[in-house]
Amino acid sequence: MEKDICIINLSGKNNYAIVTPNRITYGLNASKKEFDSLLSEEKTLLLKRKNRKKTTKKLDSVISMGIIPTFDCNLKCLYCYSLGGDTKENLLFDNISEFLKNEGSGEKLLKLNFVGGGEPFLNFELVSDLVSYAKKIFKKVEIGVVTNGTFNGKVLDWIIENKVSIRISYDSIFHDLQRPYRNGESSRNKILQNIKIFREIKYPVSIQTIITKHGVNHMNSIIDELVALNIEVVKFEPSLSTNVSRYDGEIDPDPVKYARALLSSIKYIADRNLNLVIDTGFFAEPSNDYYCGMPTGNMVVTPHGLITSCVEVARSTDPYSEVLIYGILKNKKASLWKDRLSFLNNMHFRNQIGGCKICNLRLICHGGCPMANIWENGIPIKKSSFTCKIEHELIPGLLLMIAERKDIAKIVIEEPCIN
Ligand code: SF4
Ligand code: SF4
Repeated sequence: MEKDICIINLSGKNNYAIVTPNRITYGLNASKKEFDSLLSEEKTLLLKRKNRKKTTKKLDSVISMGIIPTFDCNLKCLYCYSLGGDTKENLLFDNISEFLKNEGSGEKLLKLNFVGGGEPFLNFELVSDLVSYAKKIFKKVEIGVVTNGTFNGKVLDWIIENKVSIRISYDSIFHDLQRPYRNGESSRNKILQNIKIFREIKYPVSIQTIITKHGVNHMNSIIDELVALNIEVVKFEPSLSTNVSRYDGEIDPDPVKYARALLSSIKYIADRNLNLVIDTGFFAEPSNDYYCGMPTGNMVVTPHGLITSCVEVARSTDPYSEVLIYGILKNKKASLWKDRLSFLNNMHFRNQIGGCKICNLRLICHGGCPMANIWENGIPIKKSSFTCKIEHELIPGLLLMIAERKDIAKIVIEEPCIN
């Protein structure tokens, strides 16, 4: 049971957070006796929750699948990790439709996420055909798209009509510098035009903004612009160069500076009572889960019909493809390579070399992005120093802010349960 309890020391005298799956409990200015009694209460509660869990039946009726419709892209982003647009292969409908049919049954929910690789809507025909086809096969289909936001009116209408959950990459005041069209022209006005149309009819849009070392000092200005656009959810991500990035890392922010800037932007939002939620990517609901589904076999289909567990490794020529790519769609069926799947399963962060197993931040950090770990240290995986520095600066600081101000929690946690 001890593996499910973490005690995090917070700054100040005798301040602690006791973290268990789904729960954060505070002892502020707690004497030794008060702390011991709090810890023992948490242990009892955890045991009760575990016993209750054993009787809950697991449902197996959801299929979740990522699709990279194309490697083509009309932008040339500075930090692109997939060389989007450098090659232009498209996924073919026939290559995936039969596979979907074999996977589907009337009662299942299908979650289809279209991602890059490239800009998904440059292969709009495949996206719309596949969604129409999937809707005929599955009882329910939920669609998500991560897009660069340069699509035309036809695509925009399709998004609204199909209630697509959409995330647009938009770098605000740094957009022109970081995300130009391939010919060097600005893509900003086109994206803003689309965002404004969505927000005028209150269609939910989340924005993804990459923070470079230039952006780290201007996060409040970025927040001001997003709030003026009526955006309610932003995912901030620090740029992080990889072996397949377009640039070599000279624009990555210092991780500690980044974490401090993130903390002060959360405070900025709370002080002004702004209607904006931040997905930090580094502060998740406490649980025993891994950071993402990579080790448990994320399924992402590439334009070549390969099946990979991470979008960052999508070509058979990419580094680590011999580990991350674990299958292929062939003759309308998927062949999965079991030895690679079991190798991936072993990549749980608690097996990771470098301290995650005993780290007191592990239930919130979840070992960080496994691919960031691999890009930095290779295999076997070992924690990424970039991620780890951010977590150590961010988590204790944010936990203390949440304890001191209840309005902070709703900015970073979806459904806070805090005591
Ligand atoms: S980051 Fe996305 S939008 Fe930018 S070049 Fe790469 S694939 Fe295209
Ligand atoms: S990456 Fe660092 S902060 Fe995260 S669990 Fe591992 S040791 Fe802890």
